[in-house]
Amino acid sequence: MLTELGDGVYVLEIPGPIPVNAGIVVGDESVAVIDTGTVESDAKQQLDAVARVTDLPVRYVINTHHHGDHSFGNWWFLPAVVVGHDRCRLRLVGEAGERHREMMARLVPAAAEQVQAVPVTAPAVTFDRSCDLHLGNVSLRLDYLGRAHTDNDITVRLTERDLVFAGDLIEQSAPPVVIEGFPAEWGPTLRALEAVPEARFIPGHGVEVNSAFVGMQAQAFEQIAETCRAAGSAGAALDALGTLPHSVRAVLGAQAQVAVARYFATVQA
Ligand SMILES: [Zn+2]
Repeated sequence: MLTELGDGVYVLEIPGPIPVNAGIVVGDESVAVIDTGTVESDAKQQLDAVARVTDLPVRYVINTHHHGDHSFGNWWFLPAVVVGHDRCRLRLVGEAGERHREMMARLVPAAAEQVQAVPVTAPAVTFDRSCDLHLGNVSLRLDYLGRAHTDNDITVRLTERDLVFAGDLIEQSAPPVVIEGFPAEWGPTLRALEAVPEARFIPGHGVEVNSAFVGMQAQAFEQIAETCRAAGSAGAALDALGTLPHSVRAVLGAQAQVAVARYFATVQA
């Protein structure tokens, strides 16, 4: 489903093997898309959606992070310039990209063949902290705010409108996925995102949320991190999970256990 969020700004919910939000931003000179789905048919749906709203070409493809449900459609937008964080490229280029494709194929067995057929395409333009893209009358600010869902999450903000595409830094349709995450840093990263005044946030999955939602998710990670710090070991932290407020457990669901394991895997004791 294609939803207009504002003048020339759209979010396409791609059903795909993995439902994901893809952004389309139309300036008076060119077009940028944000994330590209998992397989060829996802990218084709997004290209169709672009053609429905503008005749202008897609000049930029932005990946909010390297995960295949956000980046595997990149190839179908070439010769557009693919833009992402430095480490997004590292996770998608060469053998690393092939390993990630194998992982994604195992994740969606029903679409494994389509995933295997994806020519994984890493960002050609990368940055560490921030980057501005200009589409004519519309500009986009890309920011790396710190590690969270991965080590290469970026946010995409429409500078005039306080509208933020947040990728999987926030998830609305399910608990945030922590398997490659950094639970000790996720909270502070979200606090930086929450600081965007009066912003509307488009998560990687699910419907638009506000800064209160971002704050709630930040608090859940802060409390998990605090619990782990106080417990001192994964076993003791897992035992302590039951004592966390219901609101925290509601945000993280079964990902709370994963967060404890990742906390101790990614933080020096
Ligand atoms: Zn992801």
